[in-house]
Amino acid sequence: MSIAVRAHSLVKTYGHGDTAVRARDGAGLTIPAGQFAAVMGPSGSGKSTLMHALAGLDGVDAGRVLLGDVDVTRLSERQRTLLRRDRVGFVFQSFNLVPTLTAAENIHLPLTLAGRRPDTAWVDRLVSTLGLRNRLHHRPAQLSGGQQQRVAVARALAGRPETVFADEPTGNLDSRSGEALLGFLRHAARDLGQTIVMVTHDPHAASYADRVVFLADGRVVDELAEPTVAGVLSHMSELEPAAKEH
Ligand code: ADP
Ligand code: MG
Repeated sequence: MSIAVRAHSLVKTYGHGDTAVRARDGAGLTIPAGQFAAVMGPSGSGKSTLMHALAGLDGVDAGRVLLGDVDVTRLSERQRTLLRRDRVGFVFQSFNLVPTLTAAENIHLPLTLAGRRPDTAWVDRLVSTLGLRNRLHHRPAQLSGGQQQRVAVARALAGRPETVFADEPTGNLDSRSGEALLGFLRHAARDLGQTIVMVTHDPHAASYADRVVFLADGRVVDELAEPTVAGVLSHMSELEPAAKEH
């Protein structure tokens, strides 16, 4: 079995000692190629920080991240940029679309930057599945939050990168668009061998994944294979006893 993502002993600190991700008994994680993994945990538990570190978007203070056989933590800034461009898709929690470009131009941007020719049939299928057909010529400011989020997902998947990281990709979607996206992500992993790491707060979204990894206080504290909604909920209530009171 080949490994898509491997991280161990990660430490990431912000500013003066605000440690977002901690190494002790493991900010360590291994994601096999072709797996659809969900990452869950309370707000502030380090999910976004971990995703940025895994995708080579941010440096880390200690530990290692390997994407395939490349040690991201040993690359220069420029090498990381190229690795991201060629091998990684990222759906940002805040979308990060380019405001002056249309939806179609945003979707094609990673390919344009890499000088790669788009697989038109594939991009077409993404656009249909994500319900963006009649929004392609709009700029981000002319799109709803959910539409912008779907453009961000299409952009991440357009070049069929080895690994897609998606930070709460259904956070702004109504349930119908959410189902379409989750079903598509599951299909991409199961049938097309796409590796996907998705942060979510939603047990239903997590149940589409092959596996759920739970973070608390910057550490991987638990995981669950073949998750069901009930299984995820019961893990969450064990890990977040205080949350039940609110
Ligand atoms: P999550 O995505 O699980 O909500 P984050 O990874 O965004 O958590 O944040 C983890 C911790 O790191 C939080 O305590 C957060 O306040 C802190 N943090 C995140 N980004 C920054 C930053 N740029 N500067 C300072 N602290 C940050
Ligand atoms: Mg986050």
